[in-house]
Parts: sequence; structure tokens; C-alpha cells
Amino acid sequence: MCRHLAHVGPTPVTLASLLTEPSHSLLVQSYAPVDMRGGGTVNADGFGAGWYVCDLLGYSTEDHARTALYRRDDPMWTDASFLDLARAVETTALVAAVRSATVGMPVSTAACAPFRGEAGGSTWLFSHNGVVRGWPHSMADLAATLPALDLLTLDAATDSALLWALLRARITAGKDPADAVAGVVTDALAAAPGSRLNLLLGDGEQVVATAVDHALSYRAWPDGGVTVASEPLDDDPAWTPVPDGCLLVARPGEGHDPPHVTVAAL
Ligand code: GLN
Repeated sequence: MCRHLAHVGPTPVTLASLLTEPSHSLLVQSYAPVDMRGGGTVNADGFGAGWYVCDLLGYSTEDHARTALYRRDDPMWTDASFLDLARAVETTALVAAVRSATVGMPVSTAACAPFRGEAGGSTWLFSHNGVVRGWPHSMADLAATLPALDLLTLDAATDSALLWALLRARITAGKDPADAVAGVVTDALAAAPGSRLNLLLGDGEQVVATAVDHALSYRAWPDGGVTVASEPLDDDPAWTPVPDGCLLVARPGEGHDPPHVTVAAL
């Protein structure tokens, strides 16, 4: 099962400080994950990182719409250029993932998270770690609620891309992002019981995540930032596991205040 990570904070950090440098970074989780409770051994079917762009004058809220997305259908460890880029790029908010494609689903760049899209006036980055049971048949009724154009322009023929289209449609319709995530998870579980649905959503200002039959942890940083990840990036006791069946919403603290993190049952 894939591994994913999101971060949001008041001050810029390098991509490398989260994705490649920690002792159990997303890079290490791509070839040596420790909690693949959904099966699979490595996350070698591609990877992606999306981040909110800081300009030379510093970060401002007008930058939220400016994102960059780097995705490949190769293992992260084979991409020396990305590993180099990650040391130079700084951001206050990112979503990244390494992929272990579910059997029967395509291996392609477009199937790699994060998925990116506009909805409700913001630019979102989305990742799904898990599997929708009985896909695609189990999701036929939910898919039928989408406009035909959304289905024709699905990022990839995968369960994750369909979940993203459903989520985007609800945010576009004006739903609060946390309610939209909870609603998609509840509806997908009703349509496809036993699904593994760790969803991760960011808009540069907040992170919304679910833990449904998969590992998830978070930690606060001294600058008021917060990172949410499938597996802790190191053995620091500051990492807190998110209980199964929960929704997490995290926003950075201001002026070095601790971040605001809520964890509640779905
Ligand atoms: N089912 C999704 C895919 O194939 C996610 C896979 C995973 O979490 N391992 O892309």
C-alpha cells in the first residue's frame, strides 16, 4: 500500500527535510516501509510531490493558487534529479506520495498521487492510500452522481482518481473540505465495505486526513508547522498515531504557537 505525507507550516522548509533526509523519510518508505498492513512490499510504482510555491519575497496567501507538481512512474530512489531538486526547493505546504499500484490498476504517471485540482476557489492536492473493494463495480452508483465530463476527464482509471473526482465535486458544490472528505469516506465505505481509505487533502493552509484501515501519524514542529504521514519520519516520540476510523484536521500555529490539530471519529 502506498505511503503518503502532507505538511503545512508558517515557515518554508525544503522538500528534502521531509521527503528524503529523515531516517525514515518517504524515500526510505518507498523501499523499506514498516507498516504495509494492506499488503505489498515496496512502493516502487511511481511517486509524486506537489507543493505551494513561495516567491523570492517570501510566502503570502496570494501564492496559494501557485503550485508545482512533480510526478513520475518510476521509484523515487531512481530519480537522482528529484533528489537533487528536493534539496533546493522550499515550501510551507506540500502533499507527497510513493505508490504501490493496486493489482489490476494501471502504472502510469497520471495514476500517481498527489492529484491536483481547483475547487471552491482553492487549489487542492489529494492522495489516497488504500483500496476500494470491488472497484469499479462497487462504485458505479457513486460515480453516476458525477457530471459526465468529470468521468471523461478522470486522472486515471483507478479507485483513487474516482475518489478525488467525488471529493472535488463536493468541494465545488460548497461543502466544507473536512465534511467533504468525511462524506466521501462514509459513502465509499457504504458502497464498498472493507475498503482501506486513508485520504489526504491539502490547500496550502490546512491538511485534512483520514485513517481507515491504514497507518497514519502526525507531529507538531517548534515553528508551528505540522506533518501528517503514513509512517513517522523518525523515532521521535513527538509522533502521535491517529486511531483507526478518525478524521484529522490540521492548521499551522501563528507566531510559533503550536499547530491546531483535531482528531475525531468519522
Ligand atoms: N489503489 C490506489 C492505487 O492503485 C492506491 C494504492 C495503494 O495505496 N497502495 O493507486
